[in-house]
Amino acid sequence: MIINDNFFPQPYEDELLYSILARYHIRSGNISPKATMKELFGSNTLTAVVDLPSNIENLIKNMPVGARYTTEELIFNHTLYSFYSAFLPPKRAELVLSSMKGNKGGDIHTRVGIMASSISSKPYLQFCPKCLKEDKARYGEFYWHRVHQVPGVVVCPKHKVLLRNSKVSVHSQNKHEYVSANEENCRADGSIIFDEDNEIRIIELSKRMNNGVIKEASLKDFDNLLEKLWTLSKDVESLLKQRFLHKPMEWFHQQYIYKLMERGIANINGSVRKKELVDNFESYYGEGFLEIIQSTVNRDDESNWLSMIIRKHRKSFRPIRHLLMIRYLGLTLEEVFYKEQEYKPFGEGSWPCLNAGAEHYLQPVVTDLKVTYGTDVKRPIGTFTCSCGFIYTRRGPDENEEDRYKVGRIKQFGQVWEDKLKDLINEKLSLRETARQLKVDANTVKKYAKKLGLKVYWENRTVGEDSRSSNHYVGDKVDGTINNINHREEWIKLMRKFPEKSKTELRQMNKALYTWLYRNDRDWLNKSSPAIVVKPTINNRIDWKERDEEILKQVKKAVSEIIESKEKPKRITVSYVGKSIGRLALLEKHLDKMPKTKEYLNIVTETVQDFQIRRIKWAIKELKEEDLKVWKIMRKAGIREEYKNKLEDEIIRMID
Ligand SMILES: [Zn+2]
Ligand SMILES: [Zn+2]
Repeated sequence: MIINDNFFPQPYEDELLYSILARYHIRSGNISPKATMKELFGSNTLTAVVDLPSNIENLIKNMPVGARYTTEELIFNHTLYSFYSAFLPPKRAELVLSSMKGNKGGDIHTRVGIMASSISSKPYLQFCPKCLKEDKARYGEFYWHRVHQVPGVVVCPKHKVLLRNSKVSVHSQNKHEYVSANEENCRADGSIIFDEDNEIRIIELSKRMNNGVIKEASLKDFDNLLEKLWTLSKDVESLLKQRFLHKPMEWFHQQYIYKLMERGIANINGSVRKKELVDNFESYYGEGFLEIIQSTVNRDDESNWLSMIIRKHRKSFRPIRHLLMIRYLGLTLEEVFYKEQEYKPFGEGSWPCLNAGAEHYLQPVVTDLKVTYGTDVKRPIGTFTCSCGFIYTRRGPDENEEDRYKVGRIKQFGQVWEDKLKDLINEKLSLRETARQLKVDANTVKKYAKKLGLKVYWENRTVGEDSRSSNHYVGDKVDGTINNINHREEWIKLMRKFPEKSKTELRQMNKALYTWLYRNDRDWLNKSSPAIVVKPTINNRIDWKERDEEILKQVKKAVSEIIESKEKPKRITVSYVGKSIGRLALLEKHLDKMPKTKEYLNIVTETVQDFQIRRIKWAIKELKEEDLKVWKIMRKAGIREEYKNKLEDEIIRMID
């Protein structure tokens, strides 16, 4: 028997495959569900599965010649595969996919890892009353929406209203039957008619819970609760709709840990302050919310899910729990899948040189930073090496901007500092003044003067006499030099506080300081002030926000064309995208002015490896089945021999 194409319904948006088949059953006019099953799959002993059905290839095979559907299309757009497989490593996701295509459906739920995690899938098919109304108006019939059946989705992502149970049980009855959504089985249960009233919604939600108990959720914070449930269901929806590349298990664990480090909840070795994490997590979501989506954290259990999900682990977790983690850590789905998080205990470079003997003192010229971790201390140590030869270390992490100007220990003073020391001594400055100018203590000055074999002029004085007599030498000019360190610091502080301000504006803000520096330290002042802002008249007219939007649109279009092209793949780089939209110069010179475009490009541009993988996938599609040999694929994809070892496993996996 074969499927009658005239009866096979056009799938609706986000319609469950189960629902498509149920509508087919109605249209076919078959009385017996088993007859329908036989027509669809060539067997009448199969079970009607809601979330992760198998035998899809059989279904496609039974379609009439020229039918419009492909196996993957049905799986990706009309089952819960994208959701359940999102956080699985590539190999396992592939296995699940092939189980769904083939006729060994028995292992699917185990492979996804949802058997082991005592998941409670929804007992009844669910619907959104507003979607129902809209569907009826638009299509003249009801259908089961995919996203409404995902465990943890309590409100409709589109309408932000609570989902309701239909009368169609997922587990007990109807094992071999596809039941379509209709007026009879989608009626509101009991006497509660759905409306916008909070009180009724809370009763409805309470009833949904096993004993009708929600501890935390009171009427008052119901809106807050609803908001969170809505956010979660929208996240689920994007998992269903977007196809993120699968990542190995450790990937997510690592992403989370870096974020926790940033928040000070994990220390530098990645060890997590568990109690703090649980407290913080619970207060972020509220217990009521966690109860509703069955993700409470049991503090008394060492291996509660929250502690486990941040540990190196082979176990897979319910996708909902990953979503909770991602939101809690302030990440987006794009970031968590595509942007490798990094822990930067000293922030972004470059860092200020803290050599008081150098011309570039306090200017951000240091680019060489090494981060190490002592054995006894759990905090990172940064070693900053400047081109002037000055090397200093500091214990991290930096907690604020001021920390960037702190020296822990000076490891090396370097040539520039030593030369400055020589100069100051030759100018016959006192020991104390010399020390002050170089920002070290007097003993250090003595030690280095001795080490460098310098002739000094303070030998027979005590430090006290020394400071008095220093005035004797110095005079106005040098007095200026003594103070200029402080004045410089003041000026730098002012600039940091008002980074947008021009030199003239800063001058207005502290005239005395400016005048002093202008008189005594003019070269430094000129070098260290904000560059004069030339306001070109042309730029004034460009609305960068608007341009960002417009370019982003063009870029997105170009990128999707590159990806969807059947031609030999081209690597997605800023310059290639720039060329293809004819705006190369703009992207190269002004990307910083277009933050949205920049961020998008950051996410979609490909590393060499990403690009290799995409070419291999392309080659596999292009080649005939009998030609699927590693070397042939590599040749077709244009990948050099030297990468063979690295990619061989991956290629074999993809062929399978
Ligand atoms: Zn809805
Ligand atoms: Zn330096």
